[in-house]
Amino acid sequence: MRLETLAIHGANIITDSEKPAIQPITLSTTFIHQPDSMIYSRANNPNRNALEKLLAKLEKGEDATAFSSGNAAGAAVFQALEPGSHIIAPDDMYHGLKNAILQLFNGVLEATFVDMTDLKNIENAFQANTKLVWVESPSNPLLKITDIRAVAKLAKQNGAMLACDNTFASPVFQNPIDLGADIVMHSSTKYFGGHSDILGGALITKSVDDFWEKVRIVQRVGGAVPSPFDCYYLCRSIKTLPYRMKGHAEHAGIIADYLSQHSGVEQVYYPGLKSHSGHDIAATQMTGFGGILSFQVKGGAEAANNLISRLHYFTNATSLGGVESLIERRAASEGPNTLTPQNLIRVSVGLEHLDDLLEDLDQAF
Ligand SMILES: *Cc1c(COP(=O)(O)O)cnc(C)c1O
Repeated sequence: MRLETLAIHGANIITDSEKPAIQPITLSTTFIHQPDSMIYSRANNPNRNALEKLLAKLEKGEDATAFSSGNAAGAAVFQALEPGSHIIAPDDMYHGLKNAILQLFNGVLEATFVDMTDLKNIENAFQANTKLVWVESPSNPLLKITDIRAVAKLAKQNGAMLACDNTFASPVFQNPIDLGADIVMHSSTKYFGGHSDILGGALITKSVDDFWEKVRIVQRVGGAVPSPFDCYYLCRSIKTLPYRMKGHAEHAGIIADYLSQHSGVEQVYYPGLKSHSGHDIAATQMTGFGGILSFQVKGGAEAANNLISRLHYFTNATSLGGVESLIERRAASEGPNTLTPQNLIRVSVGLEHLDDLLEDLDQAF
């Protein structure tokens, strides 16, 4: 099946004797004992099974695990590592996961945060106990691009696994397993859900090995699993993921061009722009450049806040990946320790009519 077909048909696992055309939601937390039956919904549920099978296929992995949030998915990888392991992660790693490493695993795991756009920084960070390299490309919120193939080679040479947070690209535009990653992570809250109404996370593995068995234990015993409702709605949303992503990327590309030419803008960050420092690498590992862009406004934080307050169709809220355009001054969301410039605005470009979005930006400027 090609991607668009897979997204629509890949999650239907129908065992009902009535043969509904679409898989129903199975709310029962427990299952009647039979030789091959499921037992209890924390361990297994038909809707979660369907979602996990679909996610594994979309990301070209052998297996997948669904979690109740992206952070729970990421933390499951850290939890599955042996205590004392060392992680190399990006200096601009998604702040929630960086906080997980620094706050939840402080004293259990070691971590070095580096700028991954320069491979030398990664090479120099390996230690004898390095077990995991974590990559996020494009990154949040500066859309930095990491050469995933090159980092995969470095990880392999040093006996470490490579995990990639693929939330921004989605499997429509980037398959990290094809590029050499061992594990792919998603915040399903974003493009998979696509309508800003489901919280979820996922891990996909290249192969089922001992480490993956531990991840399964973290899921089942840790218990941060999504509800059958959430799994059902994720499967429903993913049916339109390929077409939504095409729309997001088309709009983001045109808005990035518009902003690049605007006199009120200092700089635009979008990997589709030829002027973006990561453009050439992005073009070799992505088939589209995604729907998120950031830009710095002339006039500092106040000018950025004012611009946002004058917009009608871009909702001033955090998060991304929904059909509705969202905008925020990112530093305000990341708190006092942020490295993000104070005048930086992040946009999750939605699927409203492009002309409405462009006219809205124009009147706000
Ligand atoms: C949102 C996000 C996460 C965390 O996911 P939650 O679903 O909010 O827990 C991780 N990585 C990236 C890139 C994200 O955008």
